[in-house]
Amino acid sequence: MTSNESERAPSGKAAIPPSPPLPSGLLLIDGQLAPPLRPGRMIDALDPSTGRRITQFPACSRADVDRAVMAAQRCFESRAWRMMRPLDRGRLLERLALLVEKHREELAALESLDSGKLLAVTRAIDLQFTIDGLRHYAGWASKIAGDYVSHSPLVPEDAVYRAYTQRRPLGVVGGITPWNFPLGQAIQKIAPAIAFGCTVVLKPSPETSLTTLRLGELIVEAGFPAGSVNIVTGDGMEIGAALVGHPAVRKIAFTGSTATGQSILAASVATMKRVTLELGGKSPTIILADADLDRAIPGAAAAIFANSGQICTAGSRLLVEAPIYDRVVEGVCEIARGLKIGSAFDPATQMGPLISAQHRDRVDGIVENGLAEGAVALAGGGAVDGGGWFYKPTVLGGVSAQMSVMREEIFGPVVCAVRVEDPGDIVRMANDTPFGLAASIWTRDLDRAHLLAERIDAGTVWLNTHNVLDLTMPFGGHKLSGLGHEFGGDAMQAFTEPKAVCMRLDPGSMRY
Ligand code: NAD
Repeated sequence: MTSNESERAPSGKAAIPPSPPLPSGLLLIDGQLAPPLRPGRMIDALDPSTGRRITQFPACSRADVDRAVMAAQRCFESRAWRMMRPLDRGRLLERLALLVEKHREELAALESLDSGKLLAVTRAIDLQFTIDGLRHYAGWASKIAGDYVSHSPLVPEDAVYRAYTQRRPLGVVGGITPWNFPLGQAIQKIAPAIAFGCTVVLKPSPETSLTTLRLGELIVEAGFPAGSVNIVTGDGMEIGAALVGHPAVRKIAFTGSTATGQSILAASVATMKRVTLELGGKSPTIILADADLDRAIPGAAAAIFANSGQICTAGSRLLVEAPIYDRVVEGVCEIARGLKIGSAFDPATQMGPLISAQHRDRVDGIVENGLAEGAVALAGGGAVDGGGWFYKPTVLGGVSAQMSVMREEIFGPVVCAVRVEDPGDIVRMANDTPFGLAASIWTRDLDRAHLLAERIDAGTVWLNTHNVLDLTMPFGGHKLSGLGHEFGGDAMQAFTEPKAVCMRLDPGSMRY
């Protein structure tokens, strides 16, 4: 730990959080904003910048999940939903996009209050991603298409067979989201489900449910048919698991940790649910000796310190070729030491808090473990004293591939720096992880960039950039980072399934 960091205190005291309108705390079930069946148990929504309580919202029971799933199923099976023109499903999403746009400032402030994300970030990134996501999928609703199959070599010569395929919506989708991109993730489940003709029951993370509850109010205002979108709140072990176990739910669209994803996959076997799992990562930022360091050094720092490292694709392993290792690592450490930590609402803040005291302690535990195993804190390496759940931007050196800091997803502002002595080792080192979500390669050499990109076992590889999410690119993880893909055309595969309709035509009827 360096001396100037240990003295640094969060800047939060100066910033007065705004008071955005809070959601009513009502669930969205069958088109109505409603209290849980058995009111009582409440969950505190806490401001991570201060630890203070913002409000409370209900912890649902299994009976509420059942109510929501049955409403979604009724809607899915109704003639009105089946016959709704795809363009009109798209129009629902477009109406919601307009409402989110209208309430953009209020939603950005609520998201920052509940998650600790910088207001500048929720305004420019989370809300934009939410609005863009709704419009993106609104366009997809009218572009669902199957195939046409003209013949098969297996059919007898005197017969004429023709077949076409349809992409049919799966049915009721259970959406389960994490706390790091609450509104954006909610839309990544709701919008494709609606666009592709499914109905949905969404359960947000209990750490950050407020913007999703507010979204429920806007969904009612936008005039979505009753039961098409339902929102229930509560913890994962009870409410999430109830959704996963419900026999009427045909698909689970999950984003969260690998451990939870694995338990969902196992629990889905009995009902043979379709699942898409967007899980954790331990992504490498790879800096080659010829990289433009004026871009690569701030790029590597942003890859791990953005959103306090709470991004699934965070560049948490920094692999640097030996000739430039010292310069790059010193550059990243300098940025780490200079970052202004503080309240989400202070315009000067560059890095906010972690989501909870429990998560901060978990991050600290993994770092402490790494230090005990022989890692060295080149910058940071501990929690920040004072209110709120802040952690110092941390750079660890002296790490080896088997240490827990190198293998576990930390999900905090902690990067492990590794010197790559032999360029022939880069692929092996980059892939030496159970995860395979993303990677970035920083170089001016196009040949090396593209050839390396082919060899990295990850769902997304960025060249000279990091953490760019584009709805037109398929997004998903290899290895323990996930199953299936979301975004764009890949979402169509994930929310529909093909049906082949085969017909025999009578060749004798051909008279001309
Ligand atoms: P988490 O797995 O603890 O929780 C995610 C959601 O699952 C929450 O809503 C939780 O209540 C619910 N849940 C927990 N146990 C459950 C169970 N047994 N059955 C059903 N639902 C259950 O994850 P988190 O801590 O909220 O989020 C951080 C994790 O999410 C990190 O690992 C991060 O990498 C990952 N993530 C991945 C992506 C991606 O797209 N790959 C994006 C964002 C976050």
